[in-house]
Amino acid sequence: MRYPPYVCVFFVLFFLSHSTAHMNYISLGTAVIGVDNNLHLILPEGLFPLPASSGSGHVTSVLTPISQVTTSAVAVRQMYHAPAVTPLQRYRTTAPVLIPCEAAKDKVPHEIRQRYVNMFTEEFLKTTANVNEAFEKALNEEKAVYNRSVNKLKYLSVAVNALKKLKNQSAVSMKMKTKANDLKSLKDYILTEETLVESNFPVQHPENPGCAVLFVDSKKGICSASLKRICCRCGSTYSVNQMGKHTRKEECNYHHGKGVTKKVPGGVETRYSCCEGVMGAPGCQVFQVHVHDFVSLEGFVSTVPRLPSDTSCPGVYSLDCDMCYTIHGLELSRVTVVNWSLQVVYDTFVRPDNEVIDYNTRFSGVSEEDVKGNRTSLREVQETLLSFVSADTILIGHGLETDLCALKLLHGTVVDTSVVFPHRLGLPHKLTLNNLTAEYLMRIIQESVCGHDTEEDAAACMELMLWRLKEDGKMKK
Ligand SMILES: [Zn+2]
Ligand SMILES: [Zn+2]
Repeated sequence: MRYPPYVCVFFVLFFLSHSTAHMNYISLGTAVIGVDNNLHLILPEGLFPLPASSGSGHVTSVLTPISQVTTSAVAVRQMYHAPAVTPLQRYRTTAPVLIPCEAAKDKVPHEIRQRYVNMFTEEFLKTTANVNEAFEKALNEEKAVYNRSVNKLKYLSVAVNALKKLKNQSAVSMKMKTKANDLKSLKDYILTEETLVESNFPVQHPENPGCAVLFVDSKKGICSASLKRICCRCGSTYSVNQMGKHTRKEECNYHHGKGVTKKVPGGVETRYSCCEGVMGAPGCQVFQVHVHDFVSLEGFVSTVPRLPSDTSCPGVYSLDCDMCYTIHGLELSRVTVVNWSLQVVYDTFVRPDNEVIDYNTRFSGVSEEDVKGNRTSLREVQETLLSFVSADTILIGHGLETDLCALKLLHGTVVDTSVVFPHRLGLPHKLTLNNLTAEYLMRIIQESVCGHDTEEDAAACMELMLWRLKEDGKMKK
């Protein structure tokens, strides 16, 4: 096991603070510890006991640079008491401090990064029992935000969203401490085999292992031998070569909104919800190429039943995926899994197997940089999932059939919020996850600059089920 550098520092500090030798003091404001390439930690300001005999020599190797050693007798008397709390808590009561370094200078100003480290720490302290862990999480969170941002503007928008999410989570985890009993009642919502088929969940192909079939297969079953594709955005037919690549570059021009019919003086009129343009107006969105949403039904893996001897809880997770358009249709680009207490247990960008033609960034929040820098393949994601999801693990999602298709995962124990909270008109009408969170959780999932957020959506599904179970509990009383 490797201790993070600052933990090592604490060992040093702990030793120093318990030394009974004559004391001098070092000012902590200058203790700098490198955490990684562009992240450094400064311990909080304050005086710190230091054995007079030790000199600063061997301390400098960890805490650099060391400034003026204070020798005030008053300080000695004030400071030298056995700590009332553990040394860890005592010296980590303010947020870790970032210091600027080469790489950070041009992209995001140091003060801004520090501000978010502080705010993240504040939130993590609400949900984390261990102070040290909260600091570590805050630094990691900030680092992740920083790494996702190409410039200051992107940083700010990613950071604001990350903070908002943390605030939501800490609020919810405090509100909804759920009992194990609730887990049993969750079983009432597991989809039946019929509903799975009706809702177009992928099921095992009767003859070909590793292949899936969809029963309500509307448009996804394009014959891949054909060299014609229908664009799933604008509806145009376009041609591809044997490799699946476009034979001609044609702009894809469409409206992502729906036609909404309203009464107007003298009759009715239909306008697009996206841009208020009248029906038939040229698309308000222009993309470089047409895309299709074919999903390959090969390469599926199946969750397996646990050994009868395994008596541990099979687990409940909520998940959400992002997909992008490749030459062979839709492929997984990100997956996030959250647990019962809304903590992320698995989150990764995924490199699609085939050439990406559109990252679908507007809707997915996944950008080219996210996917390109990533080496995780779908196979690896499947392996990881199978390591903690067994056949009787409950997976929660909203329209989970799409996610399972993207993950190429055959799994029968599912709870789907689009089924638990049905549209009043029945299928095929479905309420969106945004509709549901607004109505039941009184929260708006914002279509932020970064688009859809898998973590936010996965957490929202879990929260909706927690809300449902809580309401059911009230009814029983
Ligand atoms: Zn439009
Ligand atoms: Zn198109």
